[in-house]
Amino acid sequence: MTREPFRIGVDLGGTKTEAIAMGPMGETLARRRAPTPAHDYAAVLATIGGLVLDLEREIGGRGSVGVGTPGVISPRTGLVKNSNTTGLNGRPLDKDLEALLERPVRLENDANCFALSEAVDGAGAGARSVFGVILGTGVGGGIVVDGEVLQGVNKVAGEWGHTPLPWMTPDEFPGRLCYCGHYGCVETFLSGPALAFDYGQRSGAQANGEEIAARAAAGEAAARHALEVYRDRLSRALAGIVNLLDPDVIVLGGGVSNIDFIYEGLRDLVEKQAFSDAIDTRILRNVHGDSGGVRGAAWLWGGPDRGS
Ligand SMILES: [Zn+2]
Repeated sequence: MTREPFRIGVDLGGTKTEAIAMGPMGETLARRRAPTPAHDYAAVLATIGGLVLDLEREIGGRGSVGVGTPGVISPRTGLVKNSNTTGLNGRPLDKDLEALLERPVRLENDANCFALSEAVDGAGAGARSVFGVILGTGVGGGIVVDGEVLQGVNKVAGEWGHTPLPWMTPDEFPGRLCYCGHYGCVETFLSGPALAFDYGQRSGAQANGEEIAARAAAGEAAARHALEVYRDRLSRALAGIVNLLDPDVIVLGGGVSNIDFIYEGLRDLVEKQAFSDAIDTRILRNVHGDSGGVRGAAWLWGGPDRGS
């Protein structure tokens, strides 16, 4: 039995690979997950191929395939660049998957997939322009305009994590060295590990974002202070986005976006620092949580209104 046309989305993560089969209106038909054999490229291909075929066996039929991955395909070389799953760098991942799956495959940066998912039927649904922000192990971003990912000529549009933190204070300047080679990147201030590092500096204690949030809620001064500083830096970085792109909606995702504290007064702080008398920007938490990556990858073959 063959079902209605369906879309398969794959989210290739550093530790696990998730796959979803989605119906025409975004309904979940089936899901699969497997560990990512990150250091073995051939095994990564086989893992993705296996997940796709498993889903198709379960549903009966053949779907379109979109894949979200760390990094992007370089327009210059046709090979993956900028992936923190370093085994992918220098590989023609899209072409290899197309050969393996015997069909066209659309590949997109994972932050762009997150932004697309939230723009199509998440927190940014109905908005013309959406900036999706990942505040996780790393800091990334993606831009969606009129339902389409804006890739940029070098495929690095939205790589907000590797721009400098705006309006650094003397005690922040020049910032810590980022793996990209520069000092003071937004990522070195706003990633989950950066928050933990900052809290550690203030308190001498070790805690992850979730624990810092719990300690702040319990009234611990160092935890509250670390989160206040974090929120102030986030507001500056987002004001920079407003000044450059002025999107209708900014959607926050990644582990740090689960901390309620950072939303309190955030919009007012952004408004105060943006180059505008007032802002109508909506700054929202994501709707789809950890599923944003797979859902956005599936939507690479078109949103629900247009079909595939
Ligand atoms: Zn950097």
